[in-house]
Amino acid sequence: MSLSRTAVVVGAGFGGLALAIRLQAQGVQTTLLEKRDKPGGRAYVYEDQGFTFDAGPTVITDPSAIEELFAVAGKPMSDYVELLPVAPFYRLCWEDGSTFDYVNDQAVLDRQIHALNPADVAGYQRFLAYSRAVFEEGYLKLGAVPFLSIRDMLQAGPQLARLQAWKSVYGMVSRFIQNEKLRQAFSFHSLLVGGNPFATSSIYTLIHALERRWGVWFPKGGTGALVRGLVRLFEDLGGRLELNAEVAHIALQSGRVSSVRVRDGREFACDQLASNADVVHTYAQLLGEHPRGQQEGARLRKQRFSNSLFVLHFGLDRPQPQLQHHTVCFGARYRGLIDEIFKGPGLATDFSLYLHAPCVTDPSLAPVGCSSHYVLSPVPHLGNAEVDWEEEGPRYRERLFDYLEQRYMPGLREHLVTSRVFTPLDFREQLNAHLGSAFSLEPILTQSAWFRPHNRDARVPNLYLVGAGTHPGAGVPGVIGSAKATAGLMLKDSQP
Ligand SMILES: Cc1cc2nc3c(=O)[nH]c(=O)nc-3n(C[C@H](O)[C@H](O)[C@H](O)COP(=O)(O)OP(=O)(O)OC[C@H]3O[C@@H](n4cnc5c(N)ncnc54)[C@H](O)[C@@H]3O)c2cc1C
Repeated sequence: MSLSRTAVVVGAGFGGLALAIRLQAQGVQTTLLEKRDKPGGRAYVYEDQGFTFDAGPTVITDPSAIEELFAVAGKPMSDYVELLPVAPFYRLCWEDGSTFDYVNDQAVLDRQIHALNPADVAGYQRFLAYSRAVFEEGYLKLGAVPFLSIRDMLQAGPQLARLQAWKSVYGMVSRFIQNEKLRQAFSFHSLLVGGNPFATSSIYTLIHALERRWGVWFPKGGTGALVRGLVRLFEDLGGRLELNAEVAHIALQSGRVSSVRVRDGREFACDQLASNADVVHTYAQLLGEHPRGQQEGARLRKQRFSNSLFVLHFGLDRPQPQLQHHTVCFGARYRGLIDEIFKGPGLATDFSLYLHAPCVTDPSLAPVGCSSHYVLSPVPHLGNAEVDWEEEGPRYRERLFDYLEQRYMPGLREHLVTSRVFTPLDFREQLNAHLGSAFSLEPILTQSAWFRPHNRDARVPNLYLVGAGTHPGAGVPGVIGSAKATAGLMLKDSQP
């Protein structure tokens, strides 16, 4: 069915791409305008001397959300992308040398839990049951439903109360599990979407059930191959992607969006506009000449934003067979360090890291006999710590290399071929991210669902949001869910 309508989507992150596919598949002529020279947003790709470095998401969960994009487009996913299973999901490591392989095999999990604390085997079962209940309510039922009115929120209230959503992730895990390492093992997940396990709602324990249900996957060719597959799908449907097209201004006429202007002066008229760009940037800059943009921009600036990240990509001239694909390297401190990451006021001297070794699953991401990696260190955003990253970046890189060399990758520097860093400044400058936050608004209860910026603006009826800053929030499944919620609204609103 053709609706003969036009839409512009600002930003080609996973959220923008998923939305553009859904609109184009329903006959809305959609133009996707992306600031950078490649699509993907946080999922950008660097290529250097034969190494492929995925910049961002590497833990791909809920493949059904991705499959659904191909299904709505009427195309087989296998023509575009192949997802490879990852096992173990993660290897968790502590500084005393102990490890925990987080796998999807109950017997193997039980054996490892038992070795740490026998009583926690039963506690884990109770935690899993809780996590599954939250997953049903919070993800399957509400993950792709736009919360536009307080009534929507009130309707979800009883379930949220029953699930004790006011408790934190760590607090809830601790109700079931006694061993501190296991508490860390089952509470760190919210960090993957910018949530402090000590402050984020226990609703985020659903990530555990989600991984157990659908597994952890990695696209053949890297996350960038998934981005390219989605772009090809969008273009095969007749959609138009413009790269190097940074939107500078959203124009309103009679209270509705009429067009957008790109930095080079080009104008794109549209019936509907969705922004996948940072929410503060969207309101305060792009809509900054209008009272609505000024007012909403000022309100959003007062909200709490997630931490930033320091990401160090590097290529080595030899494989690293001692590593698994995903390693979480817990430091000596958990709560204290996380507190400093979320509140500042400075840069901690210790780390908790995520180490990526994609060649374990797909050796084609590095030249033969070599390996590509990134290590990610959560750090405060630019509003919480005064760090001169131009100066600190090279120092921090060396500290990370020292740590990895001592504990995980002996001889790293001798085999180093190439490296590059992405700092909080890059999040701000390259991605227009407010305060250089890596995940947009912090996913605390009072900034979730109806309390998060809505999928459709409350005042400008044909202005929509998609991506990490709107409901349900950050993470690849989250932003793909936001695209479903936003597309539903846009398609309904464009009915004659
Ligand atoms: C290092 C890292 C690792 C991560 N790991 C995982 C993981 O393993 N699993 C997981 O599920 N999630 C992970 N995440 C989170 C996940 O990547 C993000 O939440 C998600 O990709 C954000 O998608 P988005 O649609 O909100 O848009 P973004 O990816 O933020 O894209 C927004 C796009 O808008 C563009 N833009 C901005 N301003 C303008 C403008 N004015 N005009 C035009 N374009 C503009 C930007 O260039 C960008 O391309 C990770 C994030 C990071 C940073």
